[in-house]
Amino acid sequence: MESRNRCSVIIIGAGISGIAAARVLAKNGVEDILILEASECIGGRMKKHSFGGVVVELGAGWIAGVGGEKPNPVWNLAVESGLRTCYSDYSNARFNIYDRSGNIYPSGVASDAYKKGVDSAIRKLREDEPHNATTPETPIEKAIDFILHDFEMAEVEPISTYVDFGESEFLVADERGYEYLLYKVTEDFLLMSDGKILDDRLKLNTVVRGINQSTDGVTVTTEGGCVYEANYVILSVSIGVLQSQLISFNPRLPRWKIEAIEKCDIMVYTKIFLKFPYKFWPCGPGKEFFIYAHEQRGYYTFWQHMENAYPGSNMLVVTLTNEESKRVESQSDQETMKEAMGVLRDIFGPDIPEALDILVPRWYNNPYQRGSYSNYPIYADSQMVENMKAPVGRIFFTGEHTSEKFNGYVHGGYLAGLDTGESLLEKMKAEKDRETKNKTILQPLLAIPLPKTEVVGSLQKCDMHRRHFHDDCNRGLTEVTL
Ligand SMILES: Cc1cc2nc3c(=O)[nH]c(=O)nc-3n(C[C@H](O)[C@H](O)[C@H](O)COP(=O)(O)OP(=O)(O)OC[C@H]3O[C@@H](n4cnc5c(N)ncnc54)[C@H](O)[C@@H]3O)c2cc1C
Repeated sequence: MESRNRCSVIIIGAGISGIAAARVLAKNGVEDILILEASECIGGRMKKHSFGGVVVELGAGWIAGVGGEKPNPVWNLAVESGLRTCYSDYSNARFNIYDRSGNIYPSGVASDAYKKGVDSAIRKLREDEPHNATTPETPIEKAIDFILHDFEMAEVEPISTYVDFGESEFLVADERGYEYLLYKVTEDFLLMSDGKILDDRLKLNTVVRGINQSTDGVTVTTEGGCVYEANYVILSVSIGVLQSQLISFNPRLPRWKIEAIEKCDIMVYTKIFLKFPYKFWPCGPGKEFFIYAHEQRGYYTFWQHMENAYPGSNMLVVTLTNEESKRVESQSDQETMKEAMGVLRDIFGPDIPEALDILVPRWYNNPYQRGSYSNYPIYADSQMVENMKAPVGRIFFTGEHTSEKFNGYVHGGYLAGLDTGESLLEKMKAEKDRETKNKTILQPLLAIPLPKTEVVGSLQKCDMHRRHFHDDCNRGLTEVTL
């Protein structure tokens, strides 16, 4: 059991939001920080993996929202870091829809089904017309419904990312991985050498299991039994982890916080990579994405070839979501390969080669993720988001799920981290100012020749109590202070 000196702030989780928050603190003089990360590396849901001779992204793959009036901060980081990316053109996907016999739907049929899907989705969103929404029935309608709802489609609902930052998306295709951006953010406040973080303020393979707070500070306990103390904690774990029982809080989180966490939906999004000995799919312009229309909605629907990102890689990616993701996560990779090959034989015929290898990420079963990203339910209001983000006493919350405008995205995590770092700095400054003020009030009192312990003791105690109560009464720390 290890114990260490108290530091100013413990940051739990070294994904983009935790790292961004840590950087804000360090850059503003709060350098006695400690970052505790459950897995063996930083990055969280930005995770590269070597597969089939190239580097693929198991988690975030695209920089979404580029080319608009406002610059996307993650795009800026990518440009500064010289990250290799390629433009993704989804617009043709709807004209590459295959039926189960491998025929491409005529463009008129696809356009009509697409228009019907968009109209229905818009009606569903309109409070006064949800009953007019139609249920997708045919395979092509189901495929289009899947594309419209399980992928972000600006046509249906204005999405802040596209409205603010632009409608283009760029796929990261860089051997250093998307996570390289995080190392660039890290290098100006943590000690690094040869691209490796050597700073002992980052502790990897350290799973936090308990957070205890009092009016004086926070104690964090890890799976290995280590205990760390700090004045504050920034908690950047995913909404899936918050909904699980991985971390216990003492005192328990207040009801408004638990309700907000529980209300938030989690999207499971799985990219399955398949490596082939040679390519047998069309690769010309407008062919990067193709769709498979099946009676079962979401059954191996959305495909992409990797030829634009990595020419000669002979690789396909198919994306599954939610129930299909969970189903596939729970079966063997061989079974998944068999299903995927069945779909590809439907589309391209029986003579295509067997895949050489398959890679199936398991975000839902990962105890440090429990899903891919947050998805605010249709009935979510800004109070729910505010409550998800609001601090509870000395615990500050961050992560993509706390970004009202950009939840679900890398830039959402990044901006949330910056925001939480700034909020904590303000809180720390206010606390310091109060302490200075208290000292100036106490100093003349200390000079009065009365029994010292009684006067100072009662003044401090009373003042502390009131101070914390005023600070935290609306944010749930009443259990701690009273
Ligand atoms: C499959 C997939 C595809 C995606 N595609 C895109 C995309 O194309 N574009 C895009 O912009 N976004 C995409 N996203 C979303 C994006 O990856 C996330 O929004 C973003 O990376 C979240 O960052 P974060 O810091 O909030 O959380 P995380 O990256 O999850 O960081 C939280 C960290 O906390 C750690 N942790 C958890 N529990 C504990 C514990 N008990 N103790 C210590 N540490 C703990 C975790 O290991 C993790 O490192 C995708 C995500 C997934 C999974």
